[in-house]
Amino acid sequence: MPDQIETCPLCAFVGESETDVYTHVLTSHRKQAIAEALLERRPVQLAR
Ligand SMILES: [Zn+2]
Repeated sequence: MPDQIETCPLCAFVGESETDVYTHVLTSHRKQAIAEALLERRPVQLAR
């Protein structure tokens, strides 16, 4: 396992692994906040 530090995109939480952060997000944040964070990280680009 790589010594990779994973951080929560919604707060300053730092987990030991991606799964750790994933669990944190699911238990600590609402789905709406998660969706907003995802949209923020990956903005919708309208094709012209
Ligand atoms: Zn968080």
